[in-house]
Amino acid sequence: MTQTETQTETQTETHCPYCSLQCGMRLAGRRTPEVSAWEEFPVNRGALCRKGWAAAGLYGGRERLTSPLVRDRETGEWSAVSWDHALDRVAAGIRAAQAAGGPDGVAVFGGGGLTNEKAYSLGKFARVALGTSQIDYNGRWCMSSAASAGIRAFGLDRGLPFPLADVEETDVLVLVGSNLVETMPPAARHLDRLRERGGKVVVIDPRRTPTADRADLHLQPVPGTDLALALGVLHLLVAAGAVDPSYLAERTTGWEDVRDSVASWWPERVERVTGIDAHEVRALAAMLGGKPRVMVLTARGAEQHSTGSDTVLAWINVALALGMVGRRGAGYGCLTGQGNGQGGREHGQKADQLPGYRRIDDPAARAHVAGVWGVHPDALPGPGRSAYELLDALGTPEGPSALLVLGSNIVVSAPRATHVTSRLEALDLLVVCDVVMSETAALADVVLPVTQWAEETGTMTNLEGRVVLRQRAITPPSGVRTDLQVLAGLAERLGSQASFPTDPEEVFAELGQASAGGPADYSAITYQRIRDEKGVLWGGERLFAESFAHPDGRARMYAVEHRGAAEQPCADYPVHLTTGRVLAQYQSGAQTRRVRSLPDDGPFVEMHPLLAGRLGVAQGDAVRVATRRGEMTAPAKVVPTIRPDTVFVPFHWVGANRLTNDALDPASRMPEFKVCAASVVAGA
Ligand code: SF4
Repeated sequence: MTQTETQTETQTETHCPYCSLQCGMRLAGRRTPEVSAWEEFPVNRGALCRKGWAAAGLYGGRERLTSPLVRDRETGEWSAVSWDHALDRVAAGIRAAQAAGGPDGVAVFGGGGLTNEKAYSLGKFARVALGTSQIDYNGRWCMSSAASAGIRAFGLDRGLPFPLADVEETDVLVLVGSNLVETMPPAARHLDRLRERGGKVVVIDPRRTPTADRADLHLQPVPGTDLALALGVLHLLVAAGAVDPSYLAERTTGWEDVRDSVASWWPERVERVTGIDAHEVRALAAMLGGKPRVMVLTARGAEQHSTGSDTVLAWINVALALGMVGRRGAGYGCLTGQGNGQGGREHGQKADQLPGYRRIDDPAARAHVAGVWGVHPDALPGPGRSAYELLDALGTPEGPSALLVLGSNIVVSAPRATHVTSRLEALDLLVVCDVVMSETAALADVVLPVTQWAEETGTMTNLEGRVVLRQRAITPPSGVRTDLQVLAGLAERLGSQASFPTDPEEVFAELGQASAGGPADYSAITYQRIRDEKGVLWGGERLFAESFAHPDGRARMYAVEHRGAAEQPCADYPVHLTTGRVLAQYQSGAQTRRVRSLPDDGPFVEMHPLLAGRLGVAQGDAVRVATRRGEMTAPAKVVPTIRPDTVFVPFHWVGANRLTNDALDPASRMPEFKVCAASVVAGA
């Protein structure tokens, strides 16, 4: 059989390498894949966004790393070395860091794009092979506020507790801080169908995005004030007698405190805080009151704040007060961002967590997982530092002196990125596993070239909690290894008493055992079941219909207060800066910026014509944006669709996160990516 015949005959059903929708697609070809539609996969029914259609562009680039590299710190020069040499070098560096700082002298940083098998193995590697508590991941910066709020309110965090298609069945959909049409276009059809059946869409976003263009009501609050809006809406629902007293009595606790806490949030006060006209606040409450089905979905715009988890709780309170949570076509959900944002937060790469969404400080959880790993429970470390706090501690006398990074481009994606870069530079050993020389890999002492996406098999858990199987479709370049092989090679060199399988299906079976009985229990899921059922929703199709996951079966309502952004505009930094995504790029851009068929126009500074006029800036002029942490220069994009007191910068390129604020949410430890105070001036 010729190569051409092999390629045309081979069709592999798999999933997109990018966002949390995990659209199904077919790949043909063994070397350069061709993407085609997989109409039978229920989430996207064959539809893909331009990133998905262009995913094959991840292959064939000249920048692909195919040999381990070691950097000479004196000269800065890279040398290609053998795998044995590289892994020996890493193991020696780890031992040196442990000798100097104990087990916590070594840290691990993972990613929300890693497969479940990798995330699980990474958590096990940290706790067993390294014995360190110092592990966290970039998903902390994505969905952690919603996760924290969901666990507090419902006792369980599955981003969407129902299939995404349920959106079509609701009467009013409230999207808080989500640009769903641009960030996951195949999901936009649900909004269209909802509106065709007469349902209404409300979008709350400081920018008029393509999603807001499809809304029946678009509210543009001052960044960081979504919480106050929720308090004001609930105030009006109480006043109108629109809450559901029997649901509140039977299915929740804490309602009286919540009701009292919103008593003073009359619409005019909301207007003063949020900048939204009082009559629009009333219009929103009127849309929600008396409807059989109301659905509230939050995303990063509401969550990436130092008040993010309280903001989510405030919107959950609205959904609970209306008696919506657990009702079909209604309730609350979070639109997770990263490809495996859901699974990545379930299986042990978070600082406070063991597989199955278990808590690492729970003795029963420790005993169960230690049993699966074949170690004594006392050998497992306790909770470590959260993602930003971990990076902030690197290279300090109290912090780790060695760091292993998988699936994260920290230099671009961390808040206060200049400071974080200096912490990475202060390490004695930085090891990065990646497919290309990312901005973070460029700082490393050792770079390990690994397989990506269609070159390897593994499961992902999409935003609905649907466990899907990414199947290996193409042959990896020679010279690269899987992350699982890297961890196994290091564990062996470090004399780990636990084994580290390299076959993903074997790892998944072990993950199932480790998660058994936990909140996210995968023990009944197998690769074959995923293939047969085109994905398996863990916990069942719809959650909370009868009861919540707290011991008494009731949801918890918490009275939360508006605090506002950690940094308010002032004379020196007079505008709000917010950050976000553009359609053609994904996360830090390490993948998508290298796909030639995707436009890479670089960053821009979006601003309103009124602000541009005040600054004397015309379309395309260079402008400098500065905050207390750093500055960047980019062309102005002057649009009437953003608030005049706010500028927006996309975060896919180096720059935006030099500006962002590292103020953390007290519950989720989420940094305040979405708002800080900035100055904007014309010129470079
Ligand atoms: S919406 Fe997300 S998962 Fe679907 S094709 Fe686009 S990037 Fe991929």
